Amino acid sequence: MTAKGIYGYARGHRHLEIAGIVVFFALLVFLGARTLRAVDGPLAVLGIVLSGLAGLTLSDFLSGLAHWAGDTVGTETTPILGRNFVLPFRQHHSDPKAITRHDFIETNGNNCIASLPLLLLMVAVMPRQASPLFFLCLILTFAAWFVFCSNQFHKWAHADHVPPTVAVLQRWGVLLSPGHHALHHAPPHDKYYCITVGWLNPLLTKVRFFRGCEFLIAKVAPRMLYLEERQREIARQQAAESLAAGSH
Ligand SMILES: [Zn+2]
Ligand SMILES: [Zn+2]
Repeated sequence: MTAKGIYGYARGHRHLEIAGIVVFFALLVFLGARTLRAVDGPLAVLGIVLSGLAGLTLSDFLSGLAHWAGDTVGTETTPILGRNFVLPFRQHHSDPKAITRHDFIETNGNNCIASLPLLLLMVAVMPRQASPLFFLCLILTFAAWFVFCSNQFHKWAHADHVPPTVAVLQRWGVLLSPGHHALHHAPPHDKYYCITVGWLNPLLTKVRFFRGCEFLIAKVAPRMLYLEERQREIARQQAAESLAAGSH
């Protein structure tokens, strides 16, 4: 029997999420302290800022890739990932406001747990002096931080009320804005998957990046591809068009 808390999911997983958040922040503080010790002077500050922007862009891309995979690959009964990965993405389409009812731990716990292997690797390999490898590690550390932020940014994009500063940053396009994210929520949910800031969405749509990913999945594991929602939407549009044609 699964012990459920007042949160609607297993208490054991809740404890795991809390531990994940604590360890995630401890590792970030450790890596932040190592960064401050390693860099010195205006050039190094520029290096940190550029690493932050690269980490943000990488996080935007990773959020889009993970979101596309959750929406498009496998089903809710796929072993292990079905319940914990695919189901939340598909439920989010039918109840987009549910995310706004999640507290801090439920919103961010899973992302923290998923980022831990990367942060542990950074602790092991990040050099103590500034070097190309140091800045590569810094970019990946920033990416882990912004992946953590993605769920909060996504939650704010669905919230009816957000702090005034958040609303301003959303208008400036520094945070994922409700209007931008609404383009993903229009059926059949087949574009604008990036949910950190959404900067990459126009580019990835233009180059048909996710259609390319689907082409690859269709080649290697066609049974894993889930396109039913799109097919239903095409059928719905065709039915509406033939109804409109018939009424003339
Ligand atoms: Zn989606
Ligand atoms: Zn959403």
